[in-house]
Amino acid sequence: MQCSVQWPQKLSEPQSLSERFPDEWEPLLAELQEPRYRSVQIFRWIHKRGLFNSAEMTDLPLSLREELLKRGLSAPTAIVGRRISSDKTRKLLLEMNDRRRVETVLIPHTSSPQSELFSLSQEDELDGNDSRDSRRVTQCLSCQVGCAMGCRFCASGKVGLIRQMTAAEIVSQISAAQGELKETERISAIVLMGIGEPLHNYGAISRALLLLSHPDGQAMSLRRMTVSTCGLVPEIDRLAKDFGGEVQLAVSIHSADDAVRSDLMPINRKYPVREVVEAMRRYPTGTHERITVEYTLIRRINDSENDARRLVKLLRGVPVKVNLIPMNPIECTQLEAPPEAAVDAFYNHLRGAGMMVFLRRPRGDDIAAACGQLALGGELRRNLA
Ligand code: SF4
Repeated sequence: MQCSVQWPQKLSEPQSLSERFPDEWEPLLAELQEPRYRSVQIFRWIHKRGLFNSAEMTDLPLSLREELLKRGLSAPTAIVGRRISSDKTRKLLLEMNDRRRVETVLIPHTSSPQSELFSLSQEDELDGNDSRDSRRVTQCLSCQVGCAMGCRFCASGKVGLIRQMTAAEIVSQISAAQGELKETERISAIVLMGIGEPLHNYGAISRALLLLSHPDGQAMSLRRMTVSTCGLVPEIDRLAKDFGGEVQLAVSIHSADDAVRSDLMPINRKYPVREVVEAMRRYPTGTHERITVEYTLIRRINDSENDARRLVKLLRGVPVKVNLIPMNPIECTQLEAPPEAAVDAFYNHLRGAGMMVFLRRPRGDDIAAACGQLALGGELRRNLA
């Protein structure tokens, strides 16, 4: 495999044919007495063209196409529902082979970078292009069915962890979405910020990132991929080690106070906020790059001037940009966004302290596609019934 980073120390075993790298195809091809170069042909069909039906792999001999079908090569996900927001954000409901469902969101770039909730990759700095390029779409991917982390402000956390997603299921969200794009659009960045905690499924997400960056597949730069975490310290260090800082990091902080943060995010009892920030300090960022800090503003919980002061103190000296996200409404919680004046005051305090800060107006909130609102196509309702 050609890639600019080291293989993660222990790359997980492939769970299915469709998540194999070319060299992982070779033993099977040898068994079938096929030449080695077939491995790259098959890999390209799956990861460049997003095609899993071997019957359509026209440059393979018929006997091999039949053998792949017999061995179970098939699409890991299928689109079973779509919703389009008034701001053109598109949410797709995907069903996997065990009929479990997750969601993925396509966020087109807009004329208002200030309002881009998911404008998290550093692609504008990377290629110097105009961020208002309407052809670019950022895709938000899910990585687990449900989530074990139980954050109070998040629909996915209400469901609990149902199961991990495989690397093939994670990657196939992109091939599924590509059929939904307009001719002029392209997926220019991905954020692992949908359902699930990516670093709680490290094996699958690290394989997925490498599959997406493979030169015979999507060949997407790792720098256009953002992994979001609620703060799993050992896995942040592992990501740093395995990918050398090439992958962008986003960390949910939501409070600089341990008691408040533990109440909002149970994981804080295991990894207190200062330990998380120390892991962020250790994370290798390029000279012009910053770690994204997510801060959901919740009325009377973490929205006071004192909260803003503590946040500034906590993050002093760490290369960050802060996304302030007024709480999006979700079912079964009383939590709500602060009044606009409190949001502005918080924003101004951070700005006044010299921080890079963005106020992220929700995208796709009319179709429940905004931050914290993604659930599992009815699983939330079923689990809470
Ligand atoms: S915010 Fe993220 S980590 Fe927390 S419950 Fe939701 S999906 Fe899980």
